[in-house]
Amino acid sequence: MKLSVGGTCFAGGSKANNTGVWRQTAPVVDLAKCVKCKICVDYCPDCAIAVDEEGCKIDMFYCKGCGICSNECPAGAIRMEV
Ligand code: SF4
Ligand code: SF4
Repeated sequence: MKLSVGGTCFAGGSKANNTGVWRQTAPVVDLAKCVKCKICVDYCPDCAIAVDEEGCKIDMFYCKGCGICSNECPAGAIRMEV
């Protein structure tokens, strides 16, 4: 079977997969609203979010703009922008 370009064809391949190029909307974090609960980290399908002492940080190399983090954030700290 031939896999399409962009498929994860070898162990660890997802790390090199630039899912950020799929993005049509981008999450924008309001750090003043972020309560550092890390719920967004658990929900992000691309493991693109980390939370440090300042709050939620998103790695745009992997963020594909699905909007799940924005929907799940209990503090309304993430909005999606075109
Ligand atoms: S879910 Fe919202 S409040 Fe919680 S860490 Fe993520 S951005 Fe911050
Ligand atoms: S929009 Fe949010 S949940 Fe979706 S990939 Fe980007 S950071 Fe992850």
